[in-house]
Amino acid sequence: MEEELKEKLFRDKTIGWEKVSDVEKEEINKVSKSYMDFLNKSKTEREFIKEAIKLADENGYRDIMTFETLRPGDKVYFINRKKSMYLAIIGEKPIEEGLHIIGSHVDSPRLDLKPNPLYEDGGLAYFKTHYYGGIKKYQWTAIPLSMHGVIVKTNGDVVEINIGEDEDDPIFTITDLLPHLAQEQMEKKLKNGIDGEDLSILIGSVPFTNEDKKIPEAVKLNILNILNQKYGITEEDLTSAEIELVPEFKARTLGLDGSMVAAYGQDDKVCAYTSLHAMMELENVKNTAVCILSDKEEIGSMGNTGMESHMFDFFISEILNKLGVNKPNLLDKVFCFSKMLSSDVDAGFDPLYATVSDKTNAGFIGKGISLNKYTGSKGKSGASDANAEYVAWVRNVLEKHNIRYQVAELGKVDIGGGGTIAYIIANKGADVIDCGVPVLSMHAPYEVTSKFDIYSAYKTYKAFWEE
Ligand code: MN
Ligand code: MN
Repeated sequence: MEEELKEKLFRDKTIGWEKVSDVEKEEINKVSKSYMDFLNKSKTEREFIKEAIKLADENGYRDIMTFETLRPGDKVYFINRKKSMYLAIIGEKPIEEGLHIIGSHVDSPRLDLKPNPLYEDGGLAYFKTHYYGGIKKYQWTAIPLSMHGVIVKTNGDVVEINIGEDEDDPIFTITDLLPHLAQEQMEKKLKNGIDGEDLSILIGSVPFTNEDKKIPEAVKLNILNILNQKYGITEEDLTSAEIELVPEFKARTLGLDGSMVAAYGQDDKVCAYTSLHAMMELENVKNTAVCILSDKEEIGSMGNTGMESHMFDFFISEILNKLGVNKPNLLDKVFCFSKMLSSDVDAGFDPLYATVSDKTNAGFIGKGISLNKYTGSKGKSGASDANAEYVAWVRNVLEKHNIRYQVAELGKVDIGGGGTIAYIIANKGADVIDCGVPVLSMHAPYEVTSKFDIYSAYKTYKAFWEE
């Protein structure tokens, strides 16, 4: 009797896999396979957007700037400086009834080259870096790194760089001190173990030779000569470049049971990919469906490719203009009646570090999509706290579609916290809740997710747009 009562009254805490049918298992594997393939081609924000454009073009989406007018069913996108992108399907309902927005970010923690990166020391050539986003610096030494990005010359020519992903390419690394000589280093606090200024990439060791005379900075010269021959650039051109060092690791299936994905940059490409994938399968939505792939979230969403920028408002205004319905303050009205899933990852409960989580309120790997009613830290400070009415609305959508979900908090009270782009759209007046995949080792060079949750995310995003 008490068992029945428990079944009826307790929150379902079972692991998602327990109730997965064989057919569903196949679907789960299919989605995570295409996710891993996509990740391997898009490790940076620019690469992600490039692949997203390809996918959108294949699925009937067109640049909104090529449209004179819009009508229900039209599929459009806007590319913001090759680093962020907004997509939309025009809904059947009047746009005044609000948008259904899903917003993720495609930038991930990494190492950026400094504007004057190249130097030589002790017969070795290095690139200096400035890390991007919240990293634990010690995790980025002694691992294989690949180099991605662009160098833009003054005449506007863009040189694309992608070195280290191909088996035949060289890779790069940051050296670490041998344990034999690391006594002093090992006494330091973990956060000070590796200095930010010491995150220099080893890139060469061969001097440029001239039989007649000894050349100072010959290793640096040799590197510049290689770069000049390969890309036609000089040292000065590196000042107008954006080059990112990311882990060379490929996305792989993890675990003897093959249930998880290990990959770099899953925060937040796991939510970006699953929402993009879901959008590609959408037809004829009621409310206009909008997919945001934003940049710069990891450093505070500032700048014209970040979510704080007015570029997104411009995109929605462009829709209003081309629908022929625009009038004063309509943009504000549209946002005030909109609903959003801020699709960003959640911290997965890690049994090895259980003390930082409240187990009753943590997101677990393999238990489905994780909703964070609020983020913020220390008394919810800075949080966008989703209204109970809206949480109930989202729960209803999920339950109708039989999608496993959990409602969680990121860590124990006063331990930490985090932020997403949720508050930015909520501040415009929309109802927003954070809704993403739980991750282990978040922000590390190799992050872990569950294939079950990846599939739940895809199903959640599709159901939300179809609502
Ligand atoms: Mn994130
Ligand atoms: Mn992050």
